[in-house]
Amino acid sequence: MIRFWLIALAMFAAAGPARAADRLNVVASFSILGDFVRNVGGDRVDVTTLVGHDSDAHVYAPTPSDAKKVADAKLVFVNGLGFEGWLPRLVKSAGGKASVVTATTGIAALKRDSQADPHAWQSVANAKIYVANIRDALAAAAPADAEGFKSRAQAYLADLDALEREVRQAIAKIPESRRKVISTHNAFGYFAAAYGVEFIAPLGVSTESEASARDIAGIITQVRAARIPAVFLENIADPRLMGRISAETGARVGGTLYSDSLTGEKGDSPTYIAMVRHNIKALTSALSP
Ligand SMILES: [Zn+2]
Repeated sequence: MIRFWLIALAMFAAAGPARAADRLNVVASFSILGDFVRNVGGDRVDVTTLVGHDSDAHVYAPTPSDAKKVADAKLVFVNGLGFEGWLPRLVKSAGGKASVVTATTGIAALKRDSQADPHAWQSVANAKIYVANIRDALAAAAPADAEGFKSRAQAYLADLDALEREVRQAIAKIPESRRKVISTHNAFGYFAAAYGVEFIAPLGVSTESEASARDIAGIITQVRAARIPAVFLENIADPRLMGRISAETGARVGGTLYSDSLTGEKGDSPTYIAMVRHNIKALTSALSP
């Protein structure tokens, strides 16, 4: 298996396409981070994303072509906080000289069940820290383009400030007693802490293990006792579990929340800003009386 992998890697290396020589070649581990890097890097950076849209980065299995992408990159942007458990091995086996940049550096991590919660991007204030880290790493790697990265980051940070205001205004319209929802996995801890919406989930901060019958029974009891108005699907998770909870409790399915992945270009959340807007729209329309 390993031998096959190395041969495949060598073949990719031989056949790899030529890249624009003067642009910085970087990798982002997943789609949301890739969007941040594109916004800061603009046309001075070639960004490749490993975990594609509508895919689950918690349980991703890297391919030989991912190793090739990492081997070719100058920087590899990762979320950290235990999100990409598969990444250190990939970077090691790729054998490249890429520097790994942890985009959550400086963010106060939330803990749940003694595990760090990796979904820091779900608070827009945290997204701004990701962007600042990306700006600084790009500027250090390509000093000639540093001014461009700074001005692009500044414009994008202003967009994020506007987005933060939008989120707060939208949540303020939901009566406080109705600000509680069920999602598939615990991906909205930072959103909950920042904006005051309570999230309960049958799965933990990772999607690696399945919900037990006891977990599901516990959620059903909570939904009934707390009169939780809506359950939400996620684009990276099987919808059947939420369908069952909805059927047993009468809480309606409020649509899909995007937690860990953007959609493709033609979907309704192809960028981080579109994703956050989609989520607050889904929340406000499901939770308003
Ligand atoms: Zn997640």
